[in-house]
Amino acid sequence: MNDIQHWIDGKVVASTSGRTGPVFNPATGDQTGQVALASVDEVDAAVAAATAAAPGWRATSLSKRAEVMFRMRELVDANRKEIASLLTAEHGKVLSDAMGEVARGLENIEFACGVPHLLKGEFSEQASSGVDVYSIRQPLGVVAGITPFNFPAMVPMWMFANALACGNTFVLKPSEKDPSVSLFLAELLAQAGLPAGCFNVVQGDKVAVDRLLDHPDVAAVSFVGSTPIAKHIYETGTANGKRVQALGGAKNHMLVLADADLDMAADAAIGAAYGSAGERCMAISVVLAAESIADDLVAKIAERIPGVRVGAGNAPDSEMGPLITAEHRDKVAGYVEGAPAEGATVVVDGRRPDGDPGFFVDPSLIDHVRPGMACYENEIFGPVLSVVRVHGYEDGVAMINANPWANGTAIFTRDGGAAREFQFDIEVGMVGINVPIPVPVSYYSFGGWKASLFGDTHMYGPEGINFYTRGKVVTSRWPDPSTSKVDLGFPETR
Ligand code: NAD
Repeated sequence: MNDIQHWIDGKVVASTSGRTGPVFNPATGDQTGQVALASVDEVDAAVAAATAAAPGWRATSLSKRAEVMFRMRELVDANRKEIASLLTAEHGKVLSDAMGEVARGLENIEFACGVPHLLKGEFSEQASSGVDVYSIRQPLGVVAGITPFNFPAMVPMWMFANALACGNTFVLKPSEKDPSVSLFLAELLAQAGLPAGCFNVVQGDKVAVDRLLDHPDVAAVSFVGSTPIAKHIYETGTANGKRVQALGGAKNHMLVLADADLDMAADAAIGAAYGSAGERCMAISVVLAAESIADDLVAKIAERIPGVRVGAGNAPDSEMGPLITAEHRDKVAGYVEGAPAEGATVVVDGRRPDGDPGFFVDPSLIDHVRPGMACYENEIFGPVLSVVRVHGYEDGVAMINANPWANGTAIFTRDGGAAREFQFDIEVGMVGINVPIPVPVSYYSFGGWKASLFGDTHMYGPEGINFYTRGKVVTSRWPDPSTSKVDLGFPETR
């Protein structure tokens, strides 16, 4: 049984809280470990280590900070398989998907290697006679990251790469459902030369999160998780004077117009709905199908479903693994079970018999779904795809814009004009044009709108650099002492 502890001040620290949570292998349903759940004192110890390390790290030159990131880049690259197998063991995702997660996380470390360039300020010579004005960006101090179960390596990398490169120190509170990879990343950062105390991990639950939110030495909080918790994090953190970016849940729609290539759209829907068992905040949950092609599209999706190889994440030919917990499996299965009573048609039922080992639900497809039904109104976060029939473009766009979530969306069409209009009209943060999962590359920023993001700043990329720094403007004059005189007027440019 793995015993998963904290990482504070450059080493593993055994918890004394007396509280633990179970960690499972979702493919078998067996408990494989237990994770410490931090006490308030343990969070305070991690924040104290980060606070003590902050002045030294902030004063470390840009080139030395970049050097640590370059070394971390090499270490993550060399350990891709090791990280991926840790992800598969506790999250359940298949190894190929876990390798993809590592690759997308690594992009953020590569972006952070460019921090000397990213932190260049502006300079205006002779803004007034003999006066120069320039801007600089400085780190915030201690920042915290609170992360979800579905990307236990990538989402922390979204956060800590830029935060550390900008000169902050970091306290990570990973998901208690798949916590081991956080410690592996902490070890790699230490090997990369990051000084002790700059990166800390407190394992835990609400107790740890709430302490981070009210700790006076935590300057900022980055959060990724479900919408109700994101709202709580944003409201509590900002009420306590912290800078907060809190990314929430999603219900992503894919609009398929009548002129789309239906085989391409069906292939895309399968990958985007069932990849990672639908446990992606950018997964497609709803296909909006233009009426004239809806029957064909549903048939094409349904005929592909038996080809999806479902199995344990570490089996070489698996394409889709289990869900994270037994409770989540039952909740996801409940949406399939309840659909007929609401008037929808279950085309493919992926529920498994009671007593089946592991936390599996096979790919499921529900047709004739309408707003108001439970499977439409809720984030399912599982391998269940709903099809809603729409008259055409206007109807589809209106439905997407009426949805409270607005993380990602996609349009499938061969009409460039319609795609251009969609990009203009749609009220969603990340948009795909014939791309079903439009996760921005690391030199753009990631974030939804509406109930998918609380706060003003998207995650990683240029907005991540802004989030983890604050601006300062310096107005400077080196006058000849002989010209000095008293002047009580308000400074004007001359
Ligand atoms: P979650 O909200 O349950 O947990 C996220 C984090 O918050 C975890 O670290 C957890 O320990 C903590 N937490 C849980 N309950 C808490 C409480 N009551 N008070 C304080 N902290 C609490 O989310 P999850 O189930 O781990 O992840 C899945 C959710 O995350 C989905 O809704 C998914 O859409 C969302 N997600 C969003 C994005 C995005 O970029 N928008 C990315 C990944 C996941």
